[in-house]
Amino acid sequence: MKLHTKLSLFGLSLSLCLLLGITTNIYAFTEIYFEIQPVIEHGDVPNPNVLIVLDPGHGGYDKGCSGAKRHEKDVNLEIARKLKEYLERTSTKFEVILTRESDQFISLEKRIEIANHKEADLFISVHCNSLPHGHASGSETHVAGLDFVNANQNDYLKRHNFIDPTALAKIKRDQLSQAEKMLILKNSLDLAALVSNSLGKHLPYKSRGVKESGFTVLKYLKMPGVLVEAGFLSNSKQEAYMSTSEGIHQIANSLATAVENYVVHNKLEEEKQLAYERFMNEIQIVKEFSETTYSIELLLTKDKPLLYYEPRWDKLESIYVVKKGDFYHYRTGYFTNMKAAQNVIPTLLSIGFENPKIIDVPPKK
Ligand SMILES: [Zn+2]
Repeated sequence: MKLHTKLSLFGLSLSLCLLLGITTNIYAFTEIYFEIQPVIEHGDVPNPNVLIVLDPGHGGYDKGCSGAKRHEKDVNLEIARKLKEYLERTSTKFEVILTRESDQFISLEKRIEIANHKEADLFISVHCNSLPHGHASGSETHVAGLDFVNANQNDYLKRHNFIDPTALAKIKRDQLSQAEKMLILKNSLDLAALVSNSLGKHLPYKSRGVKESGFTVLKYLKMPGVLVEAGFLSNSKQEAYMSTSEGIHQIANSLATAVENYVVHNKLEEEKQLAYERFMNEIQIVKEFSETTYSIELLLTKDKPLLYYEPRWDKLESIYVVKKGDFYHYRTGYFTNMKAAQNVIPTLLSIGFENPKIIDVPPKK
């Protein structure tokens, strides 16, 4: 039962958060829904775009470290916003999500969950550094090592981790095979090397290199990820630099260059597009019923399938796509009677589907 497996991973907590207020309806809907398994879940449709999750560290009451004038959380957000802008300008095939858009507190587990649930291709957490005495200088690029040993870990963890252990227990990176973990580490190191070189080349201070660390936000990712310490806020020169638009531009620009090089080198764009096209060409109705069944059609597009990242998809238990000729039909649910399907319509309207239509799925002849 694939859907159940997914729910037990992240889905349950996520659905509960997302569906606050309409939970009852959805669960009534779920009961009917579970009678027959969906053909294709939206999570199974490959994203044709390269999805990059940017994570501005800290936020809200968690200020991160501070310089004489600036809090880390604000600098992190400025860099991440600029980086999103530059990446989106680099390629129409780049899709960029920020884990926070404003000065708000987001737990580490939520940040991880966003990247894992969206099946991001890359994850970059943006931070600034701090050490007493003010003379420490440079950028750092961190990856999560498989076997993390670092004497400074406790200091880092104290400063960077605001984490609820119960919530973290739900995130099961352990379900990845050893080979998958190795591949993630290898790719993280590739990305980190590009990031570190690019920062060293374009910023007015040195790169202190790539380090293996135990940052929680990296350890539980299911995709390659790095954590960047853009510079030292405890160093007055670097604080001043990171407080100028030129400084933010240079940092974001060098990160964008590194990401672009990584994507080109790994042929990520072509690979994703190919997987998506292959999948969409194979779409067909594989379910056959002995009696007339009902489903709800939400949207219809011609020629070109809708992009994977449709925010409304997340609010559905699942969605399936049926290709007929040039048309792509987006449907949800199978219902054994018309009344059950009708009961779901108000929920779909409240989610924002303007014209959900009940359709017959004819029986097998
Ligand atoms: Zn930080």
